[in-house]
Amino acid sequence: MIPFCDLKKQYLSIEKEMDAAIKKVLKKAQFILGDEVEALEREIAFYLGCKYASGVASGTDALVLALLASGIKKGDEVITTPLTFVATIEAIVRAGGRPVFADVDIETYNINPREIQEKITGKTFAILPVHLYGHPADMDELKEIAQKNKLKILEDCAQSMGAEYRGMKTGGLGACGCLSFFPAKNLGCYGDGGMVVTNSKKIFEKVKILRSHGCRIKNFQSMRGFNSRLDAIQAAVLRVKLRHLEKWIKMRNVNAAYYSHLLSGISEIETPFTRPFVRHGFNYYTVRIKSFAGARDFLMDYLNSNGVSCGVYYPRVQHLQKAYRNLGYRRGDFPISEKLQNEILTLPMFPELSKKQIEFTVNKIKNGLAKRR
Ligand SMILES: *Cc1c(COP(=O)(O)O)cnc(C)c1O
Repeated sequence: MIPFCDLKKQYLSIEKEMDAAIKKVLKKAQFILGDEVEALEREIAFYLGCKYASGVASGTDALVLALLASGIKKGDEVITTPLTFVATIEAIVRAGGRPVFADVDIETYNINPREIQEKITGKTFAILPVHLYGHPADMDELKEIAQKNKLKILEDCAQSMGAEYRGMKTGGLGACGCLSFFPAKNLGCYGDGGMVVTNSKKIFEKVKILRSHGCRIKNFQSMRGFNSRLDAIQAAVLRVKLRHLEKWIKMRNVNAAYYSHLLSGISEIETPFTRPFVRHGFNYYTVRIKSFAGARDFLMDYLNSNGVSCGVYYPRVQHLQKAYRNLGYRRGDFPISEKLQNEILTLPMFPELSKKQIEFTVNKIKNGLAKRR
């Protein structure tokens, strides 16, 4: 079976370095925040070209703390995409905000800037683009709208670590960037972890207070906060992996190009679109099956029972989730997102994926489609 993501293979390729780094933390016995986390924060800020970074407990928490540190107030509206992981929406709600959706672009599957203006009201606080699958959102257009309407931009970079927009890394393009270190992300630790990056000293300092129970000084609470800290073992793991990240992003891009080359002759399949001035992060390699109704589900089942793990990211658009029925959205509100939800299929993607594995996957796709043609 070709795995969807092969973290074992990755560990074996860095085993010695990794074991030594973890052992060092165990011997030092300083487990929460501390030197190791501070070193990682400096290294990630440098890598992304941002001034400041604060490690937190998860990518979801990074979004919540970033929204709060940027000054969101209860009932403020945050404009975002319906085609994302549930955590984006959950974070807005946890921060006291109200998610407002705008449909996505049919090429990049990211929030469509042309859909945003009409969603802006007196209560709009921010735009929260998600760089879906690792393809940066249309930041120039988003920034123009944000400036005109005095809105903040907070980037959900959970899937876009290492991706670039006009030569700049995602994360430093808006007021703040929110990273996830969930194991399967481009830079993943061995548990949960996240980070808020920013060029604003004010936001940075507020995130640091919020993550430690709202205390600037231990046991003196200046605001209501959280327990949301990154631990030293995860920071040590991430520091080892960060040294390999550029190479891994390049390998992901090589794999994606090979997939797209082999798939280009199949008329039912649309391969991922990449704007010319971006570097895709390819956390996911997602194709679109444009054929008979149900073709995607048929092909997904065929692949999963014929040696290729694949899945749908995401099978239910966020405006139609039961948990957010109170927001009042209905089927048909965002036709592009709803169409994509039924046509997208994510194939195995990880740096160590071999040419043979890609060829095997593409052959299975051809066989699967031939069965229903
Ligand atoms: C993974 C992910 C998150 C949440 O990150 P966690 O670290 O799992 O909390 C948020 N947004 C998107 C788009 C994600 O893919």
